[in-house]
This record gives sequence, C-alpha cells and structure tokens, in this order.
Amino acid sequence: MPRLHQPSVYRMGKLQQAFKKAGPERPTTILDKIGLIIIGTAASILYYSFEAIVSPVDSLSVAIPVGAILIISVFTQYLLNNINRSQQALRQANTTLETKVRERTAELRQSENNYRSIFENTGTATVITDASETISLANSTFLEFSATARQEIENRKSWFDFLDDSSRLRIAAEMSEARQSETEISEALRIHEAAFVTGDGNRRDVLISCAPVTGSERKVVSFADVTRLKKAEKQVYHQAFHDALTGLPNRALFMEHLAMTMKRARRRSGYHYAVLYLDIDRFKVINESLGHNIGDQLLLAFSARLRKTLRDIDNLARFGGDEFVILLEDIENSDFALKVAQRLQNELKPPFTLEGNEIYAPASFGIVFDTGSYEGPEEIIRDADAAMYHAKEKGRAQFQVFDPTLHAKIRELHQLETDLRKSIDRDEFELHYQPIVSMDSGAVIGFEALIRWNHPTRGLIPPDTFIPIAEETGLIIPIGHWVLKEACYDLMRWQNRIQNRHPLFVSVNISCKQFLRPNLLEEIQQILSESGLPPEQLKLEITETALMENTDETIRLIEQLKKSGIKIVIDDFGTGYSSMSYLQQLPIDTLKVDRSFISKMSHATDENKKIVETIIALAHELNMNVVAEGVETREQHSVLTGMKCQLAQGFLFSRPLQKEKMDELIKNIDRFACLNPNLHYSTRPVGASSNSDPASKPAVNSPKLHYPIK
Ligand code: C2E
Ligand code: MG
Ligand code: MG
Repeated sequence: MPRLHQPSVYRMGKLQQAFKKAGPERPTTILDKIGLIIIGTAASILYYSFEAIVSPVDSLSVAIPVGAILIISVFTQYLLNNINRSQQALRQANTTLETKVRERTAELRQSENNYRSIFENTGTATVITDASETISLANSTFLEFSATARQEIENRKSWFDFLDDSSRLRIAAEMSEARQSETEISEALRIHEAAFVTGDGNRRDVLISCAPVTGSERKVVSFADVTRLKKAEKQVYHQAFHDALTGLPNRALFMEHLAMTMKRARRRSGYHYAVLYLDIDRFKVINESLGHNIGDQLLLAFSARLRKTLRDIDNLARFGGDEFVILLEDIENSDFALKVAQRLQNELKPPFTLEGNEIYAPASFGIVFDTGSYEGPEEIIRDADAAMYHAKEKGRAQFQVFDPTLHAKIRELHQLETDLRKSIDRDEFELHYQPIVSMDSGAVIGFEALIRWNHPTRGLIPPDTFIPIAEETGLIIPIGHWVLKEACYDLMRWQNRIQNRHPLFVSVNISCKQFLRPNLLEEIQQILSESGLPPEQLKLEITETALMENTDETIRLIEQLKKSGIKIVIDDFGTGYSSMSYLQQLPIDTLKVDRSFISKMSHATDENKKIVETIIALAHELNMNVVAEGVETREQHSVLTGMKCQLAQGFLFSRPLQKEKMDELIKNIDRFACLNPNLHYSTRPVGASSNSDPASKPAVNSPKLHYPIK
C-alpha cells in the first residue's frame, strides 16, 4: 500500500549513519589539550641534550631548531584543539538533530495515522487518484459503496469507469472546460452530479467533489450518495407541477409549456397551435349526488380517456376541479383542432361505469387558435375559458371557437351581475304562475311560482339567465326570500277570494344554497304565519343535487318541514343521481319528471319513455305523486295518461301567467266552482278547442274527478 507522505525520516537516517562512523564521543582530557606541547618541549630538551653531548653548545644553532620544534608543537596543538572543539560542536549538533528527527518522525507517523484514519472513517466514499485519474487508494466506504474489491480497482481502474456514459462525457467536458479557464475556486474543488454504476450493476445518483492534493498531481475524489435526495427532489418538483389526483401537469407547468410554444410559433412561420379548454357537464351534480370518491374516480377515468385519444406530443393538463386544458402543438390548421374536439367528444359519449353506476360525462369545449395576436399564455387561457363558458350555454357536449365578440358577451354578463345587485332594492322582480293540473280531468290543483326579472333596459329576463348569477353571488338568498313571501301572499289573496271552495297550493323553487341555510325553516314559518297561508298549501321544489348534499342535515330538515305540514317536491327528477333507496327514507310528496324526458318520449321504443314509465311506477310504489313537467302535445298527454301519471304541467295546459292573467284565471276557477260545487275547474288542453288561450275558457275533460294528491 503506498504511503500518504514522502518519508523524510529516511533521509535523516543516512546523516545519522555518517556520524556513527566517526566513532563514539569521548570526554576531552588535559593531555588532549596540551599533549603536543609536552611532546614538543620534550623533543626540544632531548635535541638540546644530544647537541650538548656531541659538540659544544652553539647557542644560536641549537636555539633555532629547538624554537622551531616548540613553535610547531604549540601550533599543531592549537590546531588539534580547534579540530576537537569543532568535532564536539558537531557531535552536539548531531545529537540535537537526531532528537529533532526522531520527534519529527514520530509526529509524521502520527499525522499519517491521523490522515489515514480520517480517510478511512470519513463516511464518504473517497479515492486518491494519480494524474491520469487512476485510483491509487480507495477507502473502505468507497469499496463498500462501489461493491468492488481493493485489488480490482487500486492502480487498475479510473474513477471515471464507475460513471454512466452520459455522466462520463459531461464531466470530462466540464473538467476540460474548467482547466482552460482555470480559477482558484475551480482548481481547489469541483463538484459534479453524476450517475454512478456500482460493481454489481446498481445505479446511484452521486455528487462528486474533486480536490487536488497540494503540491502534487494527485486528487482526492469523494462521492456523496444523493439518490434519496434526488428522488425527493424529483417528487417535490413533480408535486409542484402536477395534479395530485390524475398525475397530469397542473396549471403552472401547462403555462410554461404554452409560453414556450408561443415563442416557437413566433420564431417559426407555419408553426400553429391551439388550446382546448374543457369542463365536464354537470360534474357538480355527479360529485354531490354520488359522492366525492366517485367524483375522483370519474376524473381519473375521464383524464385517461382524453389521454388515450390524444397524440403523445399533445399536452393535457388539469387546472383543478373538472377543468382540463389541452395544447395541440404543431398542427396544420384550425380544422385539425376542430377534428380533435369532435373526436374527443365522440370518445366521451359512452358512459363510465364506476362502482356499478353508469355515468355519462360529456364535456363542453372552448377552442382558441393561435392568431399571433396574443402576448402571453394567460390571455389565451382567458379566451379559451370564455369560449368554453359559451359552449356550456349552448347546452351539453358543445364546443365553441373563440371569437372576439365573446368578450362583449362576457362584459354583458358582468353588467348583468352589477344590475342584479341593484334589482332587489329597485323592486324589479315579478312572479309568474304556471298551473299544475290533474291529467284525467284537467283540473287546476295548484301553481308553480316562476320568477322573472323586469330589467329596466332589457325587458323581461328569464330565470335561467340570472338565477345562476344570483346563486354564485349569494344574491339568491334575498331573492329567494322575496319569492317565498310574494308567492305565499299571492296564494293567500287568491284563496281568500275563492274561500275554501277549491283549495290550491303554490310550489316555490328553492335553490341549493337556500336549502342548506340553517334558518330556512324559521324563515318559512315566519312567512306562513305573517301571510296566514296554511303550511299544507306550500310546496318546496328542490333539485336532486340539493337533496343529496349534506345528507344527514337534509333528512333532518325535510322531516322538520314535513312535521310542520310543508310538502317537498323533487324538481327535474332524473337529471341527478339520487338513489331510490335514499328517496325512500325521505317524506317526499311529489316527483317532477324532468321535461327533457317528456319531450323525448317520441316513439314506443324510445329509451326516455321507458325511463318515465319506470319513474312513475317507482314513485307510486313509494307513495309519491308524479308531475310530468313540460307536457306540450296531446301525444305526450295520452302516453302519460297510459302510464297512469296523475299530474302535469306544461304549455299544453298553460304557459306561466302574469298576475293579471292569474287574477282572471282565479275568477274563472271560482265562478266554475260556484256553478259546479262537485266539480273542479280545469284548463283545456291546447288543441282541444279552437281557442288558443287555454286559460281563457274553462273546460272539464272528465266529470269524474280524481285527486290522488296526499
Ligand atoms: P323549473 O323549476 O323546472 O321550472 C319549469 C320550467 O319549465 C319553467 O321555465 C317553465 O316555464 C318551463 N316549462 C313549463 N312547461 C313547459 C313546456 O311545456 N315546454 C317548455 N319548453 N317549457 C316549459 P322558467 O320559468 O324559465 O324557469 C326555469 C328554471 O328557473 C326553473 O325550472 C327553475 O329551476 C328556475 N326558477 C324559476 N323561478 C325560480 C325561483 O323563484 N327560484 C329559483 N331558485 N329558481 C327558479
Ligand atoms: Mg320547478
Ligand atoms: Mg323542473
């Protein structure tokens, strides 16, 4: 295994050996210091004695050599002493150095151990590489993370070998770019995101940081496993830009796509796109009557059906609720978008079967083509929404291509809302009354109160135009209160006129929002006591939707109403999803079969005819009355009679009548009742006489009166 550091310890060892060769250190003696001088002096004495014996002393010839010997010995001694001193100093320095080397070596060993321990225990998969990116050392975390053995990779593999192809190419490019524009930061530490493929073939998301080892060409490369983080990041991104229920892109993502498409269309001539805004018809009814769980299932099945019908490149998004938006990109012309809308509508025709319920979910489409005049995606969506709104107004399963005149219509609608707010104070409403008759005798047994808005500039506005606005704005509460009060007072007035010769009832439409108000019962009771109308003569018409909402509350309220004598009629029956078993629990007086079924009862095999027959039979079984709504022809009349339908309301008998006409009708009823105390007044079905106004001439269709009203 290579060492982490260059061993400077080794170089110090050589120096030490050189000193050892010089022999051991010995203490300096006096002999060492003056030995040579003594020897020189002794040699001089010996020489002098020898010369004195051999020949008479010539002081000068003797003195010169003796002096020379003495000088040489003293000088040599001096040199030797200096050498000794130097040697001693050197030895001392060596000893100090040796100690320092030993200490340094120990420190380095400790440091190396520390680094090795940090390297091993860092918890991050880390490798040390050489200049060619080959791994020279890997820590055990890396071995474990990469699922490889040390001998397989050290000095054999590059860390690049662990990356997937695209990461490898990208990081190589990033590194070469960084080398060309070298900065201190990029030199010190570089971080890359990559896909790491382990030895056993698993893919992990990693964050790689490469740091150079100072003063060498080696690098420390560490790999942080961010797979879970990446997954969470992807989830957060997905949640931010997708609808939780269907998984489809949401508004934010769709708007981004649309903005990009708009840019592309501006750059490329001949590049066209269209936006389709769609909304499930009567989704609210489905959701409220069958429950939110079925509503959710329907949204899922609906979006799957749309997706299946669209091309892969078409962008489908859910904007919330039952609103979906489609971006058709790169289309040849506007016809293509129309064909797609047509195809989608055909696909949506068959019912969805959810938990045993067959649910029809047609949709209305608003379509906008790119005209190049739009500045931003919001404008396109605004217009597509407006077009969809108008498609809805045309009826079910319609589509509407946006054109600028729709803006004017929307402005008009806003104006209507503003006017509606003022209408209550200005007393602009009036009630019309449509007679409800006994089928077999044609006897008038009651009336439905139907509101009209007498607009100062637009004339009489029908309820279908302004009731939805009133419901949306909450104005339905004061308007509904006015209707109840007016209807009760009107009937009381008429009833007083004919005394008890002919008891009538008035049926008042109660909107869903009104019905769910907590103090409705008190409000009605107060109106009844003020007007003096007996509760038995008031019927409340509520739709199935209102009935299905907040079921516990509804049951309690209906029971209280029943206790106080007021009767409940289910209006537009057959258009909602109320279950018969639920209706059975409620003390309901009358079912009003929706006029859409009556108008479509054209021939014997007709599906609607069977539905009407079933409703009538079931209602009788549940001991309820049935009113056929919208009876217009004699054929419908006779078919319904054959089905034993007892009550009807429709243009065949009478259109809704203004108060003046009602006063007249009441007078006729009274006159007839006075003359025929045992018979009831009836309207003549249109066509039964040459007189076109059925209310103008009383007629008795059958002398045998039959009143199965409870
Ligand atoms: P609805 O309660 O189902 O009332 C019956 C509607 O059918 C009335 O329309 C009536 O004029 C129409 N109609 C009756 N017989 C025939 C027929 O033979 N042929 C055709 N084509 N139509 C017939 P109108 O008065 O326009 O009312 C529409 C709806 O407005 C009502 O439907 C009801 O839902 C709502 N509405 C009316 N007055 C009020 C009110 O005072 N309060 C509330 N909340 N809604 C009201
Ligand atoms: Mg009604
Ligand atoms: Mg109705």
